[in-house]
Amino acid sequence: MGAVIHSAPLLLPISRPPIRDGAVAVRAGRVLAVGHRREILTGHPGGQELRWPGMIVAGLVNAHTHLQFTRMAQVGARVYDSFEEWSNAFDAVYFSSGGADWAASAREGALLSLRHGTTAVADVVTDIEAMPVPNQTGLGGISYLEVLGDTDASWAETGRDHLTSTVRELSGTMDAPGGGMIGISPHAPYTLDTGVLADLGVLARRFGLRQHIHLLESVHEREYTVSGTGPIARLVRDLGFDFEILRAGGTGHGPVAFLDALGLLGPNCHVAHGVHLDAEERALLRERGVSVALCPRSNRTLGLDGPPVAALLEEGGPIAVGTDSLASSPSLDLLEDVRVLQALAREQGYRAADLPRRLVEAATAGGARALGLSDGPGRIGVLEPGARCDFAVFALDPGERDPYQALIEDGPGRCAATVTGGDQAGRVHLPKSTPETRHGC
Ligand SMILES: [Zn+2]
Repeated sequence: MGAVIHSAPLLLPISRPPIRDGAVAVRAGRVLAVGHRREILTGHPGGQELRWPGMIVAGLVNAHTHLQFTRMAQVGARVYDSFEEWSNAFDAVYFSSGGADWAASAREGALLSLRHGTTAVADVVTDIEAMPVPNQTGLGGISYLEVLGDTDASWAETGRDHLTSTVRELSGTMDAPGGGMIGISPHAPYTLDTGVLADLGVLARRFGLRQHIHLLESVHEREYTVSGTGPIARLVRDLGFDFEILRAGGTGHGPVAFLDALGLLGPNCHVAHGVHLDAEERALLRERGVSVALCPRSNRTLGLDGPPVAALLEEGGPIAVGTDSLASSPSLDLLEDVRVLQALAREQGYRAADLPRRLVEAATAGGARALGLSDGPGRIGVLEPGARCDFAVFALDPGERDPYQALIEDGPGRCAATVTGGDQAGRVHLPKSTPETRHGC
């Protein structure tokens, strides 16, 4: 079978500089070669060319979302005064939604993601029926089974057995050819008892699963782990959880040091939000190889500060970008979050001219790194030989502008098509534009 060649006036492979009149040769869903169109056409005689308008960009990786909450958009449609206020609003809707079709809701979210140029997700899943959904729609990435609300006692009694049998069951279905990848998401330092958190780290290593944790989204999380007091402690008590931290009056440590002492922070883990990370905590995450998925529009919805994006960039900490769910964000358009991050970084004093490139990298290759999918055959987040051929087409003309800057300025809402596994066997999603010309065969 000959190669399929996708070409466009501009190509952003991410792993190398932008290419004017660029092309990608693909076979069996994997990239064979990337370069100037003429060179690629010459190198693959008989290849079928699909010519796209505008800009081909390596597929966006949404490094933190909950697709199953897509039908809870009414919760994310307003702005709150605090994390705790939002949390109460969320719980009121979630816990009264008995019989909700979470798989259908997740499917809507997956299709919205594809529509905005996202080709892979870190999807945190509370209700198991939503686990296989992203992959069924053509999205790559990892579905993280969320664990929350267990005390050490309930964990020992039923929680641990339930999780291990669920993981085994899912492994049998999702790890089959064409299936998706499973991870574990210990929800946050304040929704699980201390022994449960430690055990989840052990189980993730035993099963070889990646982990994803909400960390330092609320400013009150620090007070909770340090002294077992404050609004989060009250929230946890109100939910009826008698955690060790509450009984012991805290751990004396902030949330990052607390999770690290439990063995949860390592290269198999990435965290979401990190709004209130201090310099010492950022250094520890960097040392442990833990990426931070920044979700600035979700933070804004909850009335929180923006994440310390300028410091993370200056220090070289690995970052990715997430939308979070529609229950806390106005859309699943990842480039909107990149645009907000750019404004925040400038406000926070980041002056270097590389900002647009580094933020687009965070939303692509950075997301792949966060999910542990940036190496080996079928890697994502870049267009280079051996990678999975996932890309988005943006109907825009950068003119004389830096292409990364043009993508951030004009890209939101302008995705014309998304291609996953980019050859005949792959899928083209919701193309508002179709390829202009076909050559070869
Ligand atoms: Zn979240």
